[in-house]
Amino acid sequence: MQTVLRCIDCGKSYPSDQAFVTCPACGGLLDVEHDLDALRGAVSHELFDQRLGSWDRLDRSGVWRYRELVLPDLPAETYVTRGEGNTTLYDATPRLGDYAGVRKLQLKHEGENPTGSFKDRGMAGGVTQARRVGAHSVICASTGNTSASMASYAAISGLQALVLFPEGYVSLGKIAQSVAYGATNVQVHGDFDDTLAIVRAAAESLPVYLLNSINPFRLEGQKTIIIEMLHQRGWRVPDWIVVPGGNLGNSSAFGKALMELKTLGLIDRMPRLAIVQAEGANPLYRSFVDGSATLTPVKAQTIATAIRIGNPASFAKAWRTLEWTDGVVTEVSDQAIMDAKAQVDAAGIGCEPASAASVAGVRRLVDEGVIAPGDEVVGILTGHVLKDPDAVLKYHSKALDGLTSTFANTMHTIPASLDALKALIPA
Ligand SMILES: *Cc1c(COP(=O)(O)O)cnc(C)c1O
Ligand SMILES: [Zn+2]
Repeated sequence: MQTVLRCIDCGKSYPSDQAFVTCPACGGLLDVEHDLDALRGAVSHELFDQRLGSWDRLDRSGVWRYRELVLPDLPAETYVTRGEGNTTLYDATPRLGDYAGVRKLQLKHEGENPTGSFKDRGMAGGVTQARRVGAHSVICASTGNTSASMASYAAISGLQALVLFPEGYVSLGKIAQSVAYGATNVQVHGDFDDTLAIVRAAAESLPVYLLNSINPFRLEGQKTIIIEMLHQRGWRVPDWIVVPGGNLGNSSAFGKALMELKTLGLIDRMPRLAIVQAEGANPLYRSFVDGSATLTPVKAQTIATAIRIGNPASFAKAWRTLEWTDGVVTEVSDQAIMDAKAQVDAAGIGCEPASAASVAGVRRLVDEGVIAPGDEVVGILTGHVLKDPDAVLKYHSKALDGLTSTFANTMHTIPASLDALKALIPA
């Protein structure tokens, strides 16, 4: 057997070199299913270590270093890469650890990817597949980071990028990137969920390849957040991995990565996954509390625009992840998100609002006794601080509607005098 596409609903399988991204028979989500028996002999800790010492463009990529587990056996020139991944796994400062409530907190900063979010790992996978199937145009609906990433990866691959935004809800840093990288940018009167519906219809009737996170090749790329993090930890599994959840592509990818690594014997146990949603965009949290595997969409509202999603496309795969990892779901308020962000930022690490949901989620789960203060916790920071400069400046100038700027770092204005400056320096 080799790598195939398999429907998670009806079980039908298809060759992997297809341009459809959902099951043609039933419309279900597809998995990229690898031949794990064949892979058992082909991958090892040593192989991945060896590639760390190589300048080969695929070995240098934090996605393609693990290509056997992502999208194996393509001609080397088909693989698209910007050298994505290789992101820092920070030890939180003691102060940030205190804030979160755990002694051993690490933060994997996916904002350090080429366009500033983890979406680059997914696009390395998705745009590679687009080239493999001979696409000329790629399309996505985006809360921002997907568009920035797709626009860039399409440009380096010579493809047209068609980006549809929900009007008025995308942050400055992200739209600017998509425009800069030469995408065809379209604002849609509607929210993200409306926009995704149009894009899915377009992918069925127009000659465009769909690159939203229902695309299973994107999830394969995003699995490497987990693989690389475990590699960085010498394959020592933490007690908890904590990730923000919007459309739930990442949560889905993480579960699949962990299941495969465990099956292959590359890790010896499963960590628990905690998915953190914004209170105003919490459909998975609601299902989790009800213990119900069905999705009831909500009208989404949160300052964390990257997770402002009410009808998550990968719900079914995220549910599977919760089962595989004995996972939990929590929700946090915009206030908690922005305060946690101020703490991550002030630690010198920095992240965009959605990312800080990880840290806010750890804090809440420790408060509730779900995470113990002595547990080893890895939080995922999904995007870069400069993605949303507006949120930073408004928080610190106390100009966010309805929110308190608990940790405001206010700007000083002084006369042009040394004495006035002196007053600002601790003796
Ligand atoms: C896309 C994105 C998310 C949400 O990830 P999902 O896979 O949709 O759950 C969170 N944070 C940032 C910064 C993102 O760009
Ligand atoms: Zn099916």
